[in-house]
Amino acid sequence: MGGTGQIIKGFEKLMLEEDVAIIKGKEVKNLLTENKRVVGVVTSEDEEIKADNVVCNADPPGVYSKMLNNQKYNTLFNWKINRMEYSMGLFVYYFGTKKKYENVEHHTIKFGDKYKEHLDDIFVNKKLNNDISYYLHRPTATDSSMAPKDHDCFYVLVPVPNNKSGIDWSVEGENLKKLVIDKMEKSLLPNLRENIVDDFYLTPDYFENELNTKYGSGFSIQPKFSQSAYFRFHNKSEVYDGLYFVGAGTHPGAGVPGVLSSAKVLDKIL
Ligand SMILES: Cc1cc2nc3c(=O)[nH]c(=O)nc-3n(C[C@H](O)[C@H](O)[C@H](O)COP(=O)(O)OP(=O)(O)OC[C@H]3O[C@@H](n4cnc5c(N)ncnc54)[C@H](O)[C@@H]3O)c2cc1C
Repeated sequence: MGGTGQIIKGFEKLMLEEDVAIIKGKEVKNLLTENKRVVGVVTSEDEEIKADNVVCNADPPGVYSKMLNNQKYNTLFNWKINRMEYSMGLFVYYFGTKKKYENVEHHTIKFGDKYKEHLDDIFVNKKLNNDISYYLHRPTATDSSMAPKDHDCFYVLVPVPNNKSGIDWSVEGENLKKLVIDKMEKSLLPNLRENIVDDFYLTPDYFENELNTKYGSGFSIQPKFSQSAYFRFHNKSEVYDGLYFVGAGTHPGAGVPGVLSSAKVLDKIL
């Protein structure tokens, strides 16, 4: 109950019990280095915070390329970052309705007619396709506290190309929202448009600019064999002492169980 937000509240409670200081609303702009050791961070307000060890759950390729003052890595490591393939982008439309759609389950996956072509457009052709497949999430099916009385809340997730595509999301975001509402009205959520009371959406631009993932990918580097386990970004930095990673881009990989496991792995290493 309470969804993934409850996990965050749980972690915050645990950290405060353990006297961990939590700083919110600041961005780390750079990592401080001395030779090949990371010795702290610099925030967006130019505040330096020194540390014996820095554990980072931002996306590793972005950290290595943007937050270490463009330091040059050895040829093998540069090759690794550049040769990597990045996961798809996500268009996520969140909305609340003044109507309850009681017959819609907590999780629904709807496949388009041309599933393979859709995947090719995402990963190979890097273009949008009207014949979308999507995942519809209705947490109120399980937990009525997620929306006001007699209301429902949802998000619909549409896989899209990551930002290597060059798609202009300030234009295509609205088009995709309209398309996905049209599709849902004809199938799972009749009369949806007139029942929406609040909404917003995220595009790969949000993942790139707010979450700092490379190319706005939704799940960091692709989880293919040559980018898994040892071949993913390491939990202990391959380049710097004192720098450690958890999260989707590192071992074992994306998804909530994966990233929580990465923290458990790192707990042992440290
Ligand atoms: C719509 C959606 C549905 C999903 N559904 C599922 C699901 O059902 N099951 C599942 O297992 N997984 C799911 N996932 C995937 C899962 O949420 C992610 O794989 C996971 O959250 C990644 O965790 P992370 O810690 O690597 O990155 P994040 O959760 O993105 O955390 C990284 C944090 O670092 C912050 N950050 C980045 N750079 C800086 C900086 N310079 N300074 C300060 N802070 C910074 C970012 O703002 C962000 O808050 C879903 C993802 C999405 C988007």
